[in-house]
Amino acid sequence: MKTKYYIRDNMLKEEELEEIIAAYKAGEIIAFPTETVYGLGANIFCDEAIKKIYHAKRRPMDNPLIAHIGKQEDVEKIASLIPAKARKLMEVFWPGPLTIVLKRKELVSSLATAGLDTIGIRMPDHPLTESILVKGDLILVAPSANLSGSPSPTSFKHVKEDLDGKIYGIIDGGNCEEGIESTIIDLTEEIPLILRPGTITKEEIEEVIGKVAFDQALFTKEVVKAKAPGMKYKHYAPKAKVYIIKEKEDIENILTEVAKSSLGEQTKALICFRENYGAYLALDFTEKIIIGDKSNIKEAIRNLYRILRDCDILGIENIFIEETEEKGLGFSYMNRLKKAGSYNYLKRS
Ligand code: AMP
Ligand code: MG
Repeated sequence: MKTKYYIRDNMLKEEELEEIIAAYKAGEIIAFPTETVYGLGANIFCDEAIKKIYHAKRRPMDNPLIAHIGKQEDVEKIASLIPAKARKLMEVFWPGPLTIVLKRKELVSSLATAGLDTIGIRMPDHPLTESILVKGDLILVAPSANLSGSPSPTSFKHVKEDLDGKIYGIIDGGNCEEGIESTIIDLTEEIPLILRPGTITKEEIEEVIGKVAFDQALFTKEVVKAKAPGMKYKHYAPKAKVYIIKEKEDIENILTEVAKSSLGEQTKALICFRENYGAYLALDFTEKIIIGDKSNIKEAIRNLYRILRDCDILGIENIFIEETEEKGLGFSYMNRLKKAGSYNYLKRS
């Protein structure tokens, strides 16, 4: 299949918008930009299209998709029960990077929800995608627009790398502002549960609806029974072996590992915060990359997937990357980093 590219200049031409909307309605799958990461969208009411998503991404069928809406009243079309707390969150955070899990209506295909009786819903904050959803009166279900397991795409180029020739089209909407997937909160529980941390933090949510909790699965490496099936799969991983290091890690510890694991001949990248760069001057690595300011974790979050993908393209075989404190946005950053690195912390002497 020859994938069509819709290259924006802020807004698409009218006839391109029409073509995209018609294609979604006809059951095609098209990647679209959002503020978090690029999504691979299918019409929620078309099972054939939804199947194409799982196939193109090589995604396990028991990993649910998120419904993307353009107007708040569309929630009523797919959710059967909307608690007051859910409405409050929508008021404050939509459009934005917050997915709200609610009981679903019967008419929502269980293919989209991977058999669950709930559906995750959000309203993305991207003008181009909003115009498609509103103008087409569409609800799209979507996972991230990457091959299952690899770092999520935060630019048009990333989607092309993973899915070119496998999907109907890709809409270019520039670089994603947030850079990691949405915060997911389950409102079907007595105490709302955060299933996936994102750039909207627990503290910000609690200011609006009071006490919420983190799902216990976020604190364990081995997930025995995941609330969301998606939690159990390998995620966000580059091709390189990843070593998570502490900030300004002793060069000695890094060199000991390099010597003992015969990494000597292999390519190695060091990824650190700007403030700590000086600590690694003596290290002779293939690449040294600054991920952002330590004082601005949002920047590191925005860059994380792009840098992991850049390492793949450069043929990096080993990545040594700094951790940060698991608080506030740092908790979300470390959630992705630990999965990308399979919880592999550098062993210290
Ligand atoms: P992604 O595949 O990374 O784009 O995001 C989809 C993720 O949303 C899945 O992997 C699930 O973890 C989560 N998700 C979607 N729908 C639900 C749901 N109904 N209940 C719980 N988690 C969900
Ligand atoms: Mg994904």
